[in-house]
Amino acid sequence: MRQIKRIIIHYSATDSGLYNHDAITNDHRVNRGFRDIGYHYTIDKSGNIRIGREIELAGAHTLGENYDSIGICLLGKQNFTKEQFTATRNLLKILLRAFKGCTIHTHSEYSNTPCPNFSLKEIL
Ligand SMILES: [Zn+2]
Repeated sequence: MRQIKRIIIHYSATDSGLYNHDAITNDHRVNRGFRDIGYHYTIDKSGNIRIGREIELAGAHTLGENYDSIGICLLGKQNFTKEQFTATRNLLKILLRAFKGCTIHTHSEYSNTPCPNFSLKEIL
């Protein structure tokens, strides 16, 4: 098992419900040549959590920062829902218990991007 030290939060950057977990998986495989979806989890506006890439494997979500991190993607660009934030909080609780000492970050901390377009204060 690789060492997990960080959890990095993302957004899908579109409010089109069409760009869902399966569409992202397809996009990452076909258009970006990844072996699987780049994120370890996605969370939709109803609060459904879906498992993406296996946690044992480094993701493909934050350039240069994937080796020791877990990538979570909230589906949407704005108007994130209470259900989505609650599901995120619950997932984070589980991951923090499993990977002690892990810290939580946004993609925007590492790159010049608005991703995930909300502050961590809103979910924590
Ligand atoms: Zn991102």
